[in-house]
Amino acid sequence: MTAIGFIGLGIMGSHMAANLIAAGHAVTGYDVVPASVDRLAQAGGKPASDIASAVAGAEVVITMLPDSPQVVEVVLEPGGVLSAVEPGALLIDMSSIAPETSRAVAAAGAERGVRVLDAPVSGGEQGAIKASLSIMVGGSPEDFATAQPIFDALGRTIVHVGPHGAGQTVKAANQLMVAGIISLVAEAIVLLEASDVDSTRGLEVLAGGLAGNRILDLKATSMIARQFEPGFRIDLHHKDMGIAQNAARSAGVALPVTGIVAQLVAAARAQGHGSLDHSALLKVVEELSGR
Ligand code: NAD
Repeated sequence: MTAIGFIGLGIMGSHMAANLIAAGHAVTGYDVVPASVDRLAQAGGKPASDIASAVAGAEVVITMLPDSPQVVEVVLEPGGVLSAVEPGALLIDMSSIAPETSRAVAAAGAERGVRVLDAPVSGGEQGAIKASLSIMVGGSPEDFATAQPIFDALGRTIVHVGPHGAGQTVKAANQLMVAGIISLVAEAIVLLEASDVDSTRGLEVLAGGLAGNRILDLKATSMIARQFEPGFRIDLHHKDMGIAQNAARSAGVALPVTGIVAQLVAAARAQGHGSLDHSALLKVVEELSGR
């Protein structure tokens, strides 16, 4: 049993914290939204009214926050995790943020004797619910080994991919692929429907061939039904496309398809779909086709 402070109890964090409780860990949770803290208490966790009380006595602190600015605020600012947690604790940031922010957090942690891992995830809300997430981890091998029992309660494919920030770079690669695949599934749906071919039957057979993929398996039915409840919000995917493009610039590489897909995500947001699921990229493709 590990004493865990969990900060960020949203779509993903709420289920992840519940899975840690179910695995026998003692979880104290905090979120700026009080209803999310209440939900943690109903799942058997201990509610906290601020960051300091969430991390008091914690051996491990997990953050699952939207973006870099929230991680900087929660971890680095006065009253934040690093000022409140015991030296020797392990901070696992599971948010999807910029790799350079993860490296800055790790450096600030080291100054205070707090060990840090970046461990973003893939698998969506269903993966969080079923504890079947893919977890991509950056940091030291020793800290990865310490965190393994925590990761085992949250995910299925758990890989140490390199030093601080490497987990975030792998997550950026994941996000550019997911947005690209959604865009292509959307284009397939628009083509089939405009050609008076049954899109459900069309995608069913495609799912068994070389074009088969997880987006087809998980989202084709809801996309064809135009159900876009999140899930993973367009706003967050827009953030991730920015991270991917900045990472490409830093690495000195050209990612032309990512550039086009990032513009489709930006268009979805500009059209007011930011709070819909990222499968709502279908709306942009339809708009471009005048449908
Ligand atoms: P979310 O917005 O539902 O959850 C974030 C939570 O952080 C919210 O409950 C919010 O109130 C809380 N929060 C924000 N600022 C805070 C602060 N200063 N102090 C305390 N709490 C604060 O987002 P989500 O969908 O759970 O995603 C969280 C992270 O995981 C993001 O980086 C996202 O990109 C990533 N992610 C999401 C999914 C998904 O399918 N939703 C999948 C993989 C990765």
